[in-house]
Amino acid sequence: VGSAGDEAITGPGGTSDGAPVRLLANVGSVRDVPAADRAHAEGIGLFRTELLFLGRTSEPSRGEQVAAYRDVFRAMAGRRVVIRTLDAGADKPLPFLHQDEEPNPALGIRGLRVARRRPGVLTTQLAAIADAAAECGAEVWVMAPMVSTLTEATEFAAAVYEAGLPKAGVMIEVPAAALRAAELLRAVDFLSIGTNDLSQYAFAADRSGGDLADLLDPWQPALLRLIEICGDAGRETGKPVGVCGEAAADPRLAPVLAGLGVSSLSMSPRALPGVRASLARYSYTECRRLAELAVVAPDAASARDLIG
Ligand code: PEP
Ligand code: MG
Repeated sequence: VGSAGDEAITGPGGTSDGAPVRLLANVGSVRDVPAADRAHAEGIGLFRTELLFLGRTSEPSRGEQVAAYRDVFRAMAGRRVVIRTLDAGADKPLPFLHQDEEPNPALGIRGLRVARRRPGVLTTQLAAIADAAAECGAEVWVMAPMVSTLTEATEFAAAVYEAGLPKAGVMIEVPAAALRAAELLRAVDFLSIGTNDLSQYAFAADRSGGDLADLLDPWQPALLRLIEICGDAGRETGKPVGVCGEAAADPRLAPVLAGLGVSSLSMSPRALPGVRASLARYSYTECRRLAELAVVAPDAASARDLIG
């Protein structure tokens, strides 16, 4: 294998003509980092922090959290780690939160909404992230799940900066937030689109199973249109807009997402080589054209057929 071949496997992600698209890994703990390294991830685009909290009857202490976050930050020294604050709720119940049962947990107190009742859980977590970041060489960015309004985004960003952390972002998982991407980007430093939840809420289709896979298909033009609104806002402001849901792991969708204005794709490490190779087959102009066509396609199957 020559050096050009190596570069295609290990170098930064991008289109055939060199428009960069960062290829990042989703992890849940330091145990996932070796796989991210083997796939030559440029960083971590989604560090889910639920694992440490699962099954606990009491909140993990600040020190315990620092240790867990530091392990990942150390392993990624010199690279970017986007860490997500706790995404709990009645759909991902955590005993120590003592949440009431909700008739529609997916529409209830989950993600950032938990901070309405338990602000201390968020401030302790942000303090722990700041402590861990101060001890390590990684570039740590922090984002909140399940944000719906500019007010929530502004308050979250203030809490992140207050903790001494430099970069605050929000996940786009609720259509209301996607529609306001430009306004949100004035309040925060970056957006990360969680297509799993964004599909669920845009199509009113439970992501946890059932016979609704056709509605949850990431090629659905309405989902692509919501992503385009975010990508346009990213281009206008020059701020990063990534995708970290399952859609980021579909090699054929990668050029479309790049054309929609998405500047990073974060996925399970095993999907990374296929996505990298697929992106490298298209010029940025081709990506733009494919994106334009996919958004107005009559249905998901026609959008998918645009890519050979
Ligand atoms: C998403 O909703 O797309 C996402 C990345 O978050 P999670 O799958 O953890 O809900
Ligand atoms: Mg989600």
